[in-house]
Amino acid sequence: MSDANLLPATMKAMVLDIPGHPLVCKTVPMPVPSAGQVLVKVISCGVCRTDLHIMDSELAQPKLPLIPGHEIVGRVATVGAAVTTWKPGDLVGIPWVGYTCGHCRYCLRQEENLCENALFTGYTMDGGYAEYTVAYPDYCFPLASMYGNPSGSPLLCAGLIGYRSYSMIGQRVERLGIYGFGAAAHILIQVALHQGKKVYAFTRDGDLASQVFAVRLGAIWAGGSSESPPERLDAAIIFAPAGDLVPKALKDADKGARVICGGIHMSDIPAFKYELLWEERSVRSVANLTRKDGHEFLSLAAQIPVKTDIRLFPLQEANEALAALRKGEIHGAAVLVM
Ligand SMILES: [Zn+2]
Ligand SMILES: [Zn+2]
Repeated sequence: MSDANLLPATMKAMVLDIPGHPLVCKTVPMPVPSAGQVLVKVISCGVCRTDLHIMDSELAQPKLPLIPGHEIVGRVATVGAAVTTWKPGDLVGIPWVGYTCGHCRYCLRQEENLCENALFTGYTMDGGYAEYTVAYPDYCFPLASMYGNPSGSPLLCAGLIGYRSYSMIGQRVERLGIYGFGAAAHILIQVALHQGKKVYAFTRDGDLASQVFAVRLGAIWAGGSSESPPERLDAAIIFAPAGDLVPKALKDADKGARVICGGIHMSDIPAFKYELLWEERSVRSVANLTRKDGHEFLSLAAQIPVKTDIRLFPLQEANEALAALRKGEIHGAAVLVM
């Protein structure tokens, strides 16, 4: 596998040609890494809600045609001539942030998650819904061997973005509300419980299966998103893309609580009374991740250890996996295997 001459000339990929249309299974030329890139043989790639937002044109101007997917577990197949940090056979995880420039004002102040010139895996660069992909080596994470299989994929976005959201809730949080109990929440609850917090899980109204899932993972309370929790919350993280959850979470929140929006897209937030924000409650969003977040989270995940609940789909059933995610049928995370 380390010999470029032994690589096939083509590979199978699921391709987005036209937003709003299903992905198409195609045989495409093998991607060729530049001198500063690595070629990775994909083991698995998670299916993320952001992939739906790209397909539905809720995120503007994707690369087209596009191979989506940004929760990639794989092994390095070949490295470009200038790459010294990885070698063929190394296990890597490839996340959403695929490249940052290092010289814009955000990069210079250690906020590379806000980089003006960033490239995003499976959005502005081809991603992991394919047998192979290329990546910039500094944006690949080493993975513990326990995650060298499909169970590692959800850590690469759901886990990382969940962790960055969690790192913003503040220091004195005992009671944490999580709104939207999908892939990110099912990972994050394990981190929060490990750190002694009580977790209150909010699902779509009437979604008893997700509520049972949350309680099974250790939530102290689970209910529909229109229900009130039994106690006021010290912090809230919203993963569901529904803007009306922002005033609802503020209503559930105690004085001084932070409400963190973890998604990349959300429907409009309805107007609400200032008194919901009063008493030093705050609302903020989380954008992308830094490599520091990634290294911190992946080592913590292995130490806890975080286990993911996954439903596997073969690569060519990516459309079925996306449809199941859209319908709320996935408890945990959907992962494509190559
Ligand atoms: Zn930058
Ligand atoms: Zn994602």
